[in-house]
Amino acid sequence: MMSVLQVYGMRVVCFTICIVIVFKCALYLIKPTSPQDSGSNRMIIVITPTYKRITRLADITRLANTLSQVENLHWIVIEDGESTIPNVQNILERSELLYTYVAHRTASGYPARGWYQRDMALKLIRTNPSQILGEHEGEAVIYFADDDNSYDLRLFEDYIRNVKKLGLWAVGLAGGAAVEAPNVVNKKVTSFNFKWKSKRRFAVDMAGFAINLDYILNSSAVFGTECKRGDGAPETCLLEDLGFDLNDIEPFGYEKEKNNEILVWHTKTSYSGMKVKEAEKFGYFVEP
Ligand code: UDP
Ligand code: MN
Repeated sequence: MMSVLQVYGMRVVCFTICIVIVFKCALYLIKPTSPQDSGSNRMIIVITPTYKRITRLADITRLANTLSQVENLHWIVIEDGESTIPNVQNILERSELLYTYVAHRTASGYPARGWYQRDMALKLIRTNPSQILGEHEGEAVIYFADDDNSYDLRLFEDYIRNVKKLGLWAVGLAGGAAVEAPNVVNKKVTSFNFKWKSKRRFAVDMAGFAINLDYILNSSAVFGTECKRGDGAPETCLLEDLGFDLNDIEPFGYEKEKNNEILVWHTKTSYSGMKVKEAEKFGYFVEP
């Protein structure tokens, strides 16, 4: 038989244990997340316009292999055509990525260069962000990845995932130059190194920047049908219309004494043969 004193003692011990547990739980719940935590938690939303061309399945295969190695990523693929293509869908399915694949044929008045498809992707994100974010509750970053470029995996973790506003970096083989890159002074972009279309305020290729989702959701800016300020290049119009200034740019990879590697290349897949006749496909699926 326990004495009254023993029972009382046990109650005190139990009560103390409960208090400690409640206190620990409260501490865990109110613990502020460090910028590092929220940064590594950002979802990357990749937007890729694509269309039937003889090299497209090769390009999409390669891009799927790259993106499937990146965590917490949603790939929005917009087919420039009347309908989605089963062979593309199969590649996306096998990648095990979160993806959305829809078709929007370029509307009249738009240049047939992926502008309309990127706008359709922005519309999709703005009208129904939860469809893209799913159960993800943190921040997200938008990146426009054309189907034929070459992407280093570090681009996603070291650059894109860390974008709080507007991230920007060098692109190899862009704009007729070996490399297009920002000039950075005291961590701020002051101008750009380029060979082409000098009047652009943001002289950057589509592959050279990423935008935090908040800035996309708080604006209605789109690529539209033309970009006179870009001399035909669409990037500067979108960034200017989103209200950005050079001062807003977070440059990445500019400290060349630490690392002078280029993490994305504006490559083009070429096919050196003639137009393929049906009989020369030997029953295989070859576009277009
Ligand atoms: N694109 C498209 N419809 C077209 C032409 C291009 O959807 O009629 C896409 C293409 O698949 C790519 C992007 O737009 O993802 C840019 O096109 P491309 O790579 O041909 O342009 P470049 O790299 O020569 O600027
Ligand atoms: Mn291209």
